[in-house]
Amino acid sequence: MSTPKALITGILGQDGAYLAQFLLEQGYHVYGLMRRYSNPTFENLQYLGIADEVEYVSGDMSDEASLLQIVKFTQPDEIYNLAAQSFVGSSWDQPRLTTEINGLGTLHLLNAMKIFAPYARFYQASTSEMFGGGSDENGEQTELTSFYPKSPYAISKLYAYWITVNFRESFGLYATNGILFNHESPLRGKEFVTRKISDGVARIKLGLQNELRLGNLDSKRDWGFAGDYVKAMWKMLQQEEGSDYILSTGESHSIREFLDIAFGYVGIEDWTPYVTTDPRFKRPAEVKTLQGKSDKARAQLNWEPEVSFEELVTMMVDADLQRLKSEPTS
Ligand code: NDP
Ligand code: GDP
Repeated sequence: MSTPKALITGILGQDGAYLAQFLLEQGYHVYGLMRRYSNPTFENLQYLGIADEVEYVSGDMSDEASLLQIVKFTQPDEIYNLAAQSFVGSSWDQPRLTTEINGLGTLHLLNAMKIFAPYARFYQASTSEMFGGGSDENGEQTELTSFYPKSPYAISKLYAYWITVNFRESFGLYATNGILFNHESPLRGKEFVTRKISDGVARIKLGLQNELRLGNLDSKRDWGFAGDYVKAMWKMLQQEEGSDYILSTGESHSIREFLDIAFGYVGIEDWTPYVTTDPRFKRPAEVKTLQGKSDKARAQLNWEPEVSFEELVTMMVDADLQRLKSEPTS
């Protein structure tokens, strides 16, 4: 059998790195799409020791011609569309760019697959933000919960979700949405609240910083480990046909609980003297609580998350402590 080929967009991001590592372990040839940068950072792939094992292709989600060319050239068996302007907060500052990359970029990639690789299998990185906090009577989100997006990011992702469903239904393509709840790791971008806290706590512990400025401490998220979630992305593309699946832990925790565990881990029981609320980090519209019910994925994909909430928080603080001890200026 010939070597299976996967094309990953967003290869330099958190999920791109973990997914590439997993697919390489499964024997895939991995093409990683990255946009042109004057000074690209391969940090995440280097952290996992796989930066030299990926074949990089240059393109941009907002440039349809580049995606047509890449799909024609790579002839992938599986396409994982992870590229995005992925930060909710920035989507109010750059709503059009967010829409172009996340929404129209997905259309461009699906179109390229339809023309040059219609046999391929497509994974779309959809998000629990599309629910906007709407829920069933138990306060949870399922594949049947109505969408009510509350940010330009969530709205752009809703377009991508539906265009993926539409290409599946209109053209018979294998196209699947993974509706993923928040997932984190030591590779999470530092603007996201979990990594901002783990990095901040490590700096405070090492005497490099004495304050952590945050926004709304009361919102709750269903946080899992990115390394667990990428395995299910692959499983979604090994089914008989395309479909849509929620991935979540089923537990919801507040920012305060995250702070309790993170500070507790470095021996600080009372974090209140270190944490300041800063209105700059509050959002024009907030998604208060997300808690997913991933019964479909657990039954059909035989998947479940392996890392607990507490293990996730301590893993992240630990990784930042180790990094800052060896590179205090990073
Ligand atoms: P990251 O922000 O870490 O990675 C996104 C990647 O997309 C970056 O490497 C970025 O490249 C790339 N990208 C951005 N714009 C473009 C563009 N115009 N052309 C090509 N590449 C581009 O996100 P994650 O890895 O955390 O998430 C992966 C996907 O999953 C995203 O689509 C995200 O929205 C979605 N998602 C994530 C969740 C989470 O909790 N992590 C939850 C649900 C969905 P560059 O390095 O050049 O900036
Ligand atoms: P999101 O769920 O994709 O928006 O992930 P984030 O990590 O960016 O935000 C999760 C929650 O943390 C949201 O409800 C934010 O309002 C809240 N939050 C509180 N303080 C901060 C902060 O300083 N930065 C970020 N990014 N989020 C914060």
